[in-house]
Amino acid sequence: MNLPEFKYSPNAYKIGVFENIAGTCSICNERRQIKYTSSFYSVDVPEYICPWCIESGKAAEKYSGKFNDYLGIEGVSSDSNDLNYAIDEELLLEITNKTPSYVSWQQEVWLTHCDRPCAFIDYADTETIKLLSEELNDDIGTSGYDPELIRVALSKDGSLVGYLFQCVKCGHHRLHIDCD
Ligand SMILES: [Zn+2]
Ligand SMILES: [Zn+2]
Repeated sequence: MNLPEFKYSPNAYKIGVFENIAGTCSICNERRQIKYTSSFYSVDVPEYICPWCIESGKAAEKYSGKFNDYLGIEGVSSDSNDLNYAIDEELLLEITNKTPSYVSWQQEVWLTHCDRPCAFIDYADTETIKLLSEELNDDIGTSGYDPELIRVALSKDGSLVGYLFQCVKCGHHRLHIDCD
């Protein structure tokens, strides 16, 4: 059976959020061989979440849980009266309820572009930003970290980690950085 694909996490099976572990999904009760192992924010913690129950939204629904923090989506305001917000609620819920997270040091952030969520592409290191420097310069400049340090020390699994996103509409790349 083909694994479900995620529009906002096209490389979901290569970014360390699923593991090859046999079990019975806590939501659909099917025997599965692939278990979601990254963040899921809920009161009751399911033993086993399969990718099909992420894609369908059933895991989020059954446990009233979120894979990604709503307020971690770039530009989302905690002020519910803020009507200037440009991204459709439906797209925000697709990120929180139907998209696997990624592995991060701190609370994950989900970047946006063209009034919609970006897709999470991969972790990023100094090579990544060399290749995409023009597109990523703005994000490097406003990251809060020293741009020179980023250019020498950014890694995919060290203490200063880059997170590469790409706009699903125009293809522009964005970069988020955090550190341990
Ligand atoms: Zn399932
Ligand atoms: Zn765009």
